[in-house]
Amino acid sequence: MRPASRRLRRLAWSLLWLTALGLLLAWSWRQPFMASARMLWDIARAPAPAALPVPVHGVRAGQIADTFGAPRGSRRRHEGVDIFAPRGTPVASATRGIVVSVDDGGLGGRQVWVLGPGRERHYYAHLDDWAPGLSTGQAVQAGSVLGFVGTTGNAQGTPPHLHYGIYGAQGAHDPLPLLRAGARPPAR
Ligand SMILES: [Zn+2]
Repeated sequence: MRPASRRLRRLAWSLLWLTALGLLLAWSWRQPFMASARMLWDIARAPAPAALPVPVHGVRAGQIADTFGAPRGSRRRHEGVDIFAPRGTPVASATRGIVVSVDDGGLGGRQVWVLGPGRERHYYAHLDDWAPGLSTGQAVQAGSVLGFVGTTGNAQGTPPHLHYGIYGAQGAHDPLPLLRAGARPPAR
């Protein structure tokens, strides 16, 4: 065989292998085990939301008091809102995203952190319990149940409520305007 045709054959084989690899990657990207990777790709590029649903079942935005930034002792400020509801009321994720922490401890008690669109972190605290099977790394949709309203952490002795906070690159910002925007009917 002449060298030129051998080079051509090698090139053809390389193209075949690359095509096969490409097809395999395209196939695996769509598989359930890649759901978290797909979600991460999505939320990293998506803008931070301008409107959000209230993350506690049965509560309207108008019922939530504006307490963001209120002093909590001499050194701390309230970095979120408190959404009061009967103990055990489902807490639903306000956004799609990735569960980055399922933890119990500190001021928040039983808590869940979700990394959402625009790489903002959503903090759900004082949960009575987590949703069964909820785990770090899991992809969730807006409305996915994360846990249930409770009084864990420093909420012990208070009426059951969800502490909900949103943290962007600049730190905590007030969720209430977003929840109120989410309650308004969409503009036509
Ligand atoms: Zn709070």
